[in-house]
Amino acid sequence: MAWHGIEGHDALLSQFRAALGRGRLASTFLFVGPSGVGKRTFAEKLAQALLCSARPVELLDPCEQCDSCRQVLAGAHPDLLRVAKPEGKSELPLALLIGEGETRMRTGLCHDIALKPFMGGRRVAIIDDADDLNTEGANCLLKTLEEPPPRSVIILLGTSAERQLPTIRSRAQLVRFRPLERELVATILERQGVVSDHGMALRWAALSQGSVAKAIEMADAELWAFRGQLIAGLSRVPLASRELAVAVTAFVDAAGKEASEKRIRARQVLEFAVEFYTGCLRGVCRADTANEGVLSQAIDRRLAQPVEVSGLEAALERTLDAVEHVERNANQATLIECWLDDLARLLDRHGWRELPAA
Ligand SMILES: [Zn+2]
Repeated sequence: MAWHGIEGHDALLSQFRAALGRGRLASTFLFVGPSGVGKRTFAEKLAQALLCSARPVELLDPCEQCDSCRQVLAGAHPDLLRVAKPEGKSELPLALLIGEGETRMRTGLCHDIALKPFMGGRRVAIIDDADDLNTEGANCLLKTLEEPPPRSVIILLGTSAERQLPTIRSRAQLVRFRPLERELVATILERQGVVSDHGMALRWAALSQGSVAKAIEMADAELWAFRGQLIAGLSRVPLASRELAVAVTAFVDAAGKEASEKRIRARQVLEFAVEFYTGCLRGVCRADTANEGVLSQAIDRRLAQPVEVSGLEAALERTLDAVEHVERNANQATLIECWLDDLARLLDRHGWRELPAA
């Protein structure tokens, strides 16, 4: 049974219920896991349950009807504080935590969380984009985390524990959110009306790394057309890296004016390449694969040529490395160019050469 529409995290829910049943809820939580798996939704629902005035908190089952529940749903509950990185910023602004100018230390989350609850018995804060908390911000937050105001709960949301500053990590209870199962992602896509064809839903889900948000990004016909062009290019020997770089850059630039739109596309392209090289390696090992037509043809074409497993491994590793960098890189064109140049070089070095013409 889905918990208020949230699926895939029942084990975590049980842990929270057990902690509340024993009256031992921590004051600070660090939720980590890939984006789009439901961390924020879970945090919001947890906050709603903690603030609900109609049901005992240990049930963790907000009534959805009381004034408190309705205000949480409307984003207007005075005891629920939220901060997130504004669009276009690379860090969580300090002002959101401690105020600025004349109101410095008299506004902001660190001040507000210590106020007496207005409605219920608690204050709850959700700090989104905790990955982008800088050292100064983390230090400001530290005092609050070291001496949490009575009956306050702070939930930080990030993608991995490793990306958090040690000062924060050591003072928060870590809660890991796992990627959703492929079938579950597909079901959610169909239920939300994103796609009606089950086979298509499964294909997008397979590329989503367990994230509904990523699966929704796949709902783009141009993207799928380009994917065919890309994997055909990757299957060619030798790799025409310059030519491919021009095509990929043009495709990424066409995503839109915003850097965030280009970043999403660059990541998608790289993930298609990860899929291609993973498929090649599985093909070499003769592992069972369920690749759809275009991909399996490209892999067969590639594997019909001389193949060095070490070359494929190096190409996969370099591509995964590029995926890591795409989130932090402002200039996608340079990233793509370097990635493809390196691929050509690595494949060549590992003896992955063209067969002489017959
Ligand atoms: Zn309620």
